[in-house]
Amino acid sequence: MKRMIVLFAGVIFFNLSCVTNAITGRSQLSLVSDAELQSLAVTQYKEFLTTNKMVPAGNRDAEMVKRVGNRVAVALRDYYAQKGMPNALDGYGWEFNLVESKEVNAWCMPGGKVVCYTGLLPVTQNETALAIVMGHEIAHAILGHGKERMSQQMAAQGIGALGGAAMGTNAKAVNIFGQVYGIGAQYGALLPNSRKQELEADHYGLIFAAAAGYDPRQAVDFWTRMAAMSNGQQPPVFMSSHPSDEERIRKVSEVMPEALQYYRPK
Ligand SMILES: [Zn+2]
Repeated sequence: MKRMIVLFAGVIFFNLSCVTNAITGRSQLSLVSDAELQSLAVTQYKEFLTTNKMVPAGNRDAEMVKRVGNRVAVALRDYYAQKGMPNALDGYGWEFNLVESKEVNAWCMPGGKVVCYTGLLPVTQNETALAIVMGHEIAHAILGHGKERMSQQMAAQGIGALGGAAMGTNAKAVNIFGQVYGIGAQYGALLPNSRKQELEADHYGLIFAAAAGYDPRQAVDFWTRMAAMSNGQQPPVFMSSHPSDEERIRKVSEVMPEALQYYRPK
């Protein structure tokens, strides 16, 4: 009986704490508000940039990261406007920075704080492939994947919904945030995205890159190249939890006709 009550309470808790994502239509656990998450992201992003070596503006590669990011941000604004949600990203203050690190990685925090590592560029090799990776990372953020993982981990650790500024001062919550974004070894193991989140980010990331003027058809070549590179080796951080190469390439091909509808060559 006791177990049933706990289960029942768990079901109520889950239902009350879920939101339906406006783009994917999928129900996601949500124990933190976007505003709380964005404010924590601003603090953590600043700290990250002061403790890591940023490639200065004016550098060719740093400018490419900013150019890709800004083009995707503009495309996203149009995308949401077309869906009847012109204010959906109002809380976003986009920033795109290139940071010196051998790590093959990129991420986007809630509120549009984006970092690419220099180690990613020899892998992407060209601007279109970079746009595909950045589109993917930005899709994770705007589809609320970080928030979902964070909420799942908070629930697992017995932390309930945190209101207002409680979030930034709750050491456990800050620690989980660090694990979700993998922003520092001090936070321990990275909390990986689920396979479902990865495929969603591939799907929508491809649309956003296409709408920003990057040819989505290059994604198949890029992921095939990535698959060959990680064959038998440790895969790059940003795809370590990703679906199998075959599944990813098959799914990317499946959504290609949809992505091509959004493609506006520049
Ligand atoms: Zn991903």
